[in-house]
Amino acid sequence: CQRIVLASRPQGDAAPENFRLETAELPAPEEGEVLLRTIWLSLDPYMRGRMNAGPSYAPPVEIGEAMAGQVVAEVVESRDSRLQAGDIVLAGIGWASHGVAEARLLRKLDPELAPVSTALGVLGMPGHTAWVGLNDILRMDSGETIVIGAATGAVGSVAGQLAKRAGLKPVGIAGGAEKCAYAVEHLGYDVCLDHRDPGMAEELAAVTPQGVDCYYENVGGDVLQAVLPRMNDHGRIAVCGMVAWYSAGGGGEALTVPGIWRTILVKRLRVQGFLVFDHANRLQPFLDEVGPLVGAGEIHYRESVAEGLEAAPEAFLEMLTGGNFGKQLVRVGSD
Ligand code: NDP
Repeated sequence: CQRIVLASRPQGDAAPENFRLETAELPAPEEGEVLLRTIWLSLDPYMRGRMNAGPSYAPPVEIGEAMAGQVVAEVVESRDSRLQAGDIVLAGIGWASHGVAEARLLRKLDPELAPVSTALGVLGMPGHTAWVGLNDILRMDSGETIVIGAATGAVGSVAGQLAKRAGLKPVGIAGGAEKCAYAVEHLGYDVCLDHRDPGMAEELAAVTPQGVDCYYENVGGDVLQAVLPRMNDHGRIAVCGMVAWYSAGGGGEALTVPGIWRTILVKRLRVQGFLVFDHANRLQPFLDEVGPLVGAGEIHYRESVAEGLEAAPEAFLEMLTGGNFGKQLVRVGSD
């Protein structure tokens, strides 16, 4: 059994030496548990926060402990009547080739409905996050203009398509011409701007002549800086993430708390942070709506696949600065 542990805490940007690959004995399941073999490991921006010490919404990963994370895995041995060998499940066993989990905590997946990797992306936590952000936090309305950062990523790619389907005018912001072209051609964005373009703020003003009603905040940094002045009075901002600031040098240096605070006041904005795990009761409504759309090919998704558990640290670090194109996965074992 192989696993990747946190070797040291990052000073500034995370680096490969913060991780270590270890070999351990295969764990044995007890009554009510199953032994799992990982097929897909999900890499997500929140994992960067778990590498830091200090209080947050979830406890940090301890030094020497396996990095936290969700996987799609096959049941190898079951000591619970709910699951049997060969079943495919969603589990939280972290960056590991194998693990033991309590059967009652696992979601069994149906490979007939959609490729099982989608349970980590478009039909998993990122898709659920996009759906909750639009419907419950922003309460999007047809005809509105919405700006979505990290527009082609795991969350943003779902948010753009759902906003378009609901009759909004989605404006995407992504890194590079290829991602921007994909956003418009496949993800329903009316327009997509490159955040690396120094003229991005002016372009945003030009493409939002009626201002911005909703901002789906995934990035912070220069993107936030460009969007805030475009917000309409009584606009809404769903603060989902701020990936630009998970690494150093994410831009937005000119942003000051007094300036942001004043904008919120003067424009009477509603700014709401949210964490998807508070919205577990919305998972099923999300799956009921989006599952059939994915099955019918009406919602597009894209995956970036790194091969082998040992490739996870590098793929993770690259994802934090846009090296992924769509949902970042690691293929740990065969289907
Ligand atoms: P993505 O697949 O979108 O990957 C991260 C992307 O962030 C990169 O591909 C890159 O896209 C973009 N990015 C990185 N640095 C910058 C920068 N300086 N400026 C602009 N964009 C940047 O990840 P996810 O879809 O999984 O997550 C998106 C956001 O949602 C994250 O902030 C994450 O923390 C948050 N999130 C929050 C949840 C919640 O419950 N609140 C749950 C899940 C995710 P590009 O190449 O286009 O720049």
